[in-house]
Amino acid sequence: MTTTTAPESQPFQAEVAELLNLMVHSVYSETEIFLRELISNASDACDKLRYEAISAPELIVDGAPPKIRIAPDKKANTLSVVDSGIGMDRQELIDNLGTIARSGTKSFLSRLTEAKDGANLIGQFGVGFYAAFMVAERIVVTSRRAGSDQVFVWSSSGGSGFEIAQASDDDATRVTRGTEIVLHLKKEASKYLETYEIERVVRAWSDNIQFPIELVPEEGEPRQINSASALWQRPKSELSAEDYKQAYQQIAGAFDEPAMTLHYRAEGRQSYAVLLFAPSTKPFDLFDQARKGKVKLYVRRVFIADDADLLPAYLRFIRGVIDSEDLPLNISREMLQNNPQLAQIRKAVTGRVISELESLGEKEPEAFTKIWDAFGPVIKEGIWEDFERREKLLGLSRFTTTKGEKRSLKQYVDDLKPNQTDIYYLTGDSIERLKSNPKLESATARGIEVLLLTDPVDAFWTSAPLDFGGKPLKSLSQGDIDFALIPLLDDKADEKKDDSGTDEATTIALIKDALGERVSDVRASQRLTSSASCLVAGGDAHDRMLERLLAMQNKAPATKPILEINMRHPLVAAIAGDKGAANDLSKDLSKDLSFLLLEQAQILDGELPEDPAAFAGRLNQLVLRGIAKG
Ligand code: ADP
Repeated sequence: MTTTTAPESQPFQAEVAELLNLMVHSVYSETEIFLRELISNASDACDKLRYEAISAPELIVDGAPPKIRIAPDKKANTLSVVDSGIGMDRQELIDNLGTIARSGTKSFLSRLTEAKDGANLIGQFGVGFYAAFMVAERIVVTSRRAGSDQVFVWSSSGGSGFEIAQASDDDATRVTRGTEIVLHLKKEASKYLETYEIERVVRAWSDNIQFPIELVPEEGEPRQINSASALWQRPKSELSAEDYKQAYQQIAGAFDEPAMTLHYRAEGRQSYAVLLFAPSTKPFDLFDQARKGKVKLYVRRVFIADDADLLPAYLRFIRGVIDSEDLPLNISREMLQNNPQLAQIRKAVTGRVISELESLGEKEPEAFTKIWDAFGPVIKEGIWEDFERREKLLGLSRFTTTKGEKRSLKQYVDDLKPNQTDIYYLTGDSIERLKSNPKLESATARGIEVLLLTDPVDAFWTSAPLDFGGKPLKSLSQGDIDFALIPLLDDKADEKKDDSGTDEATTIALIKDALGERVSDVRASQRLTSSASCLVAGGDAHDRMLERLLAMQNKAPATKPILEINMRHPLVAAIAGDKGAANDLSKDLSKDLSFLLLEQAQILDGELPEDPAAFAGRLNQLVLRGIAKG
């Protein structure tokens, strides 16, 4: 006999309260997903019990395999979802059903506030349990942690909090293991009490749940309403596109279509079944710091872990299941880290996923584009991290270039100009700004294609030494560029001939003198045809874009750039002047002009001049001088 203590009220975490408020007051058409979320939680609980029972068989005292039951009660206007899984103790009820401990919650909530398609967002984020408040005005959860003699009741009507109490003897007798969730339905949700409706929803969303789902009608015998098979174990020939879509949506808790499906069985040194999907839309936690993958590991159909890092972090968007025949069932989560068999599986499956993406890129470019648009920035992390597969990942990548969109490096290399030995790129904040960057001028004059890289991650992977098809990748804002051997498109516009009569050495000396410590060097440029100047990084320094990102995060002291000047530009010519800047007046003028060359170049790179007021002052003076002269 248990002594019953008074129920205790506890507040929801602020995010939960906000979420519930949105759920309760919004009119999502697809309220039915609440059932999928509850069944999915129940299935996870059954998975966990099966896993824990491997080392502690006494947890399943009655020997009954875990299952899920759904029981409507029209008189009481309640729908119960009951599982005989792992259950929750008091603290787990409080923590799991009172807080959301997930990154991206804030941005999710603000998007949910604005969205029309709430169900889709809810699915992407996976708010799970709380979705039940779309259909219920009150929820009572009674749970017994497997093996425990204590049973607790959590209840809430939404709002700002919940109550937690010890269960009555009756409740404790009824709930022998696992969790019973009783939904007191809102009036408009009473359709979920109809058995045909429950069956329809379960078949639509939860047919692939591995555990039996029983419908317990008010009259008549309980009957199983799902097929309860591990779909990945079935032969491909038996499965339709619709089956796969459903399996994907159920496994990933998603609503979109899979953009790629990979289903095979590996036999040989090890045997395992693989069922993996690439989603067609981005999840909320894609750029989560933890960069955790979500592929589930099963051993002989028993769920083991969903954080076993079965794929490298840059493939963390891939969802699905790997089911091994050879790993020991009692493999502990710690052992997963260093298990050599698992390392082999990981290597083989990673290779397979990448080759599948490659062939999708060739055979179904539209599907591949969806994946690339959603996950390209993540895949590109691999260029930096996965040395072994670097060239393959470069080959998968698609780029916006000066020639068009979604260009592959293979296309780039096929279109190289005569004598062109490098693949050129420019990194920056936006395509528009890059297109007007003077560093492109000389390449444009020769019809050389340039990759325009604007993802934040681009600044990082490009800092690794890279080549594709034997052609090194080279930044147009770094080191020396030599286009001398590549012919101009318009051969009459011979930009190399310097007929301005400007004395290069004198001009450079004057600019260096004027700018002092602000730049590391001043050089005549090969990059420019019409602009006066640009800033580049030295051959062994970081690219300018990475430099800026690192400086923003205070990660590295900025190294000084090199100022390149266009010797044919009148502004540059004016610096030396005819008298070689001998008198004080023209010395001041040449100093102002030198600073303008530097500041213009900064602005064209999307930076601010160090002293914007001084820049404006200089510009005004020069303009006024021009007006006075004219
Ligand atoms: P998620 O399932 O995405 O973690 P939920 O809000 O649906 O989010 O559930 C929160 C947590 O509550 C789950 O992670 C799980 O630990 C616990 N939980 C929910 N339902 C059950 C259940 N039927 N049995 C055991 N634990 C559960």
